[in-house]
Amino acid sequence: MDLKQVFLKLADVSAPSGYEEPMIRHMLSELGPLVDEVHVTPRGNVVAVQGGSDEDAPSVALEAHMDQVGLVVANIDERGFIWFRRLGGMLSRTLLGQQVKLLSDKGPVMGVVGVKPGHVTSAEEAKTVPEVQDMYIDVGARNREEAAAMGIRVGTPMVPGAPPLVLENGLVASPGVDDKIGMAALIAVAQELKDRKIPSTVYYLAAVEEENGLRGAYSILYDLDVDMAVAIDTTSAGYQPDVKMRDIFYEIGKGPAIHHGEQGRGRVNVIHHHRVREWLKAAADAEGIPYQENFQFGGTDAGAMAKTRAGIPASTIALPRRYSHSPVEAFYLEDLENLVKILVTALEELDSSFDVSRI
Ligand SMILES: [Zn+2]
Repeated sequence: MDLKQVFLKLADVSAPSGYEEPMIRHMLSELGPLVDEVHVTPRGNVVAVQGGSDEDAPSVALEAHMDQVGLVVANIDERGFIWFRRLGGMLSRTLLGQQVKLLSDKGPVMGVVGVKPGHVTSAEEAKTVPEVQDMYIDVGARNREEAAAMGIRVGTPMVPGAPPLVLENGLVASPGVDDKIGMAALIAVAQELKDRKIPSTVYYLAAVEEENGLRGAYSILYDLDVDMAVAIDTTSAGYQPDVKMRDIFYEIGKGPAIHHGEQGRGRVNVIHHHRVREWLKAAADAEGIPYQENFQFGGTDAGAMAKTRAGIPASTIALPRRYSHSPVEAFYLEDLENLVKILVTALEELDSSFDVSRI
């Protein structure tokens, strides 16, 4: 499967957090032909299932989030300027002067985030990033009515408008790498396992609203018969000129990240399930697939799934990427290929002899 093409197709599908409808439709049509059954929950989560050959083998959920950081219209003023709020943790300092795509009722509308002219910006102001509440978007409308006629209203969601770029050495820079690579991995693993009946039943889960507090993942396993779960996500990488080695140890191009858990500033606050993590590592080791292991910054849906029902054993495999939550999140295609290989190998090797208990 050509993961570059799968990703570029996904990059064209906008899914600002809480407004994932285009991605829900995309994942239904991509996963549908690859699985035995697929449905959407009322919450918006996509659930696709490939039945296994042995009901004693552990059933596994592969989960990734559909949403990406974005913006939403909060007000349109009489001159047609659009005022907005963030959806998830979009980096404010990357917004000024950027192109944005508004997903209006009448289709996509492009706009730009305005910038105060340098000529009237004081030296002090030039050093600071304005509050998001002080930024505004210009879509070319001359007044509120023209913006309304374009289908733009309070609640119109938007995403960065920059197109994806494929750079040297397979480095891809794009908005929404987090977590379109998760969608790409779900599609690729489902494709790989489609005609190989493995012992385990595999659930391919695409969740809503990770960027706004893991909300989709909190309910996604509630009524599924799942023995363990793996969240597939991105993770911040170091080794860029403005990140210190002591802060982030992951590096792009060195293989996927198999997290031990999550950390805040100097403190680990989530430990992932040891057996699930070791199962992924064993698969990578057996095939000689490179990977990295450490504690990531911030959370993933594994944290939410581990709190479901009686506590589902869960862990995370992630793709290291530079410039997180900006319009130019960057990763190596090779890391994505290796991430898919680890998951396929791990699932193929799973059978009823696997015991998920910790002792
Ligand atoms: Zn993510």
